[in-house]
Amino acid sequence: MELIRIPALSDNYIWLLCDENKHCVIIDPAESEPVIDILAANQFIPAAILLTHHHHDHVGGVPGLLKQHPELPVYGPEETQHKGATYIVHEHDTINTGSFSFRVMELPGHTLGHIAFYQAPYLFCGDTLFSGGCGRLFEGTAEQMFSSLEKILSLPDDTLICCAHEYTVSNMKFAKAVLPNNQIIHDYYQETLKLRENNQATIPTNLQTEKKINVFLNCHDIYLQKNIGIKPNSMSLSSVFQQLRAYKDRF
Ligand SMILES: [Zn+2]
Repeated sequence: MELIRIPALSDNYIWLLCDENKHCVIIDPAESEPVIDILAANQFIPAAILLTHHHHDHVGGVPGLLKQHPELPVYGPEETQHKGATYIVHEHDTINTGSFSFRVMELPGHTLGHIAFYQAPYLFCGDTLFSGGCGRLFEGTAEQMFSSLEKILSLPDDTLICCAHEYTVSNMKFAKAVLPNNQIIHDYYQETLKLRENNQATIPTNLQTEKKINVFLNCHDIYLQKNIGIKPNSMSLSSVFQQLRAYKDRF
């Protein structure tokens, strides 16, 4: 398998996962042109489009791709039905096409119908988990998003987090504000800053790294709780998450 990351719009990533026979799946095509160019340059044969949620910067390229490949199946949650999805998928569904086999995980929070596609070690999680951060709560509750992140945490440590945005540096600035004395967070900030200065991507990340540097996966940390004004262990972890997410929204 070969994983290809295509930068799109201002800070989106479109993902391609390709097998040995040059068949590939396209995940969250924000736009069609850069995908069509990569397909042509490598003589890849598209097998399917996978959509994580209905936002325009994840589905905008569907019409353009279908124009070139009218038979291409498009898998997505119910909320993408009018954004080009031809197959509606739910929790535990498996998408088998060619040598690919993706398990669907429902991850509400950023939107109510948000899903991810998992084929070990790849997790295409759209706008749910970012490196150092998580998606905004546009439709779901903090409790829903917290459970969605816990679901991701149940995957193996070597899971590759293929998220849809390059937000790492600004997320790490926030992480430094929340846990100023954490050396691992400080080092990761410096590392990702350097990558971005050299115009390199910080994504994919892996779950093992995220467990150490992502404050949204560390709501149990008593220093984190103290630093955002919560008396340690005085509330549920999903309530800590809610306050942390609200603090990030204002940051
Ligand atoms: Zn979104």
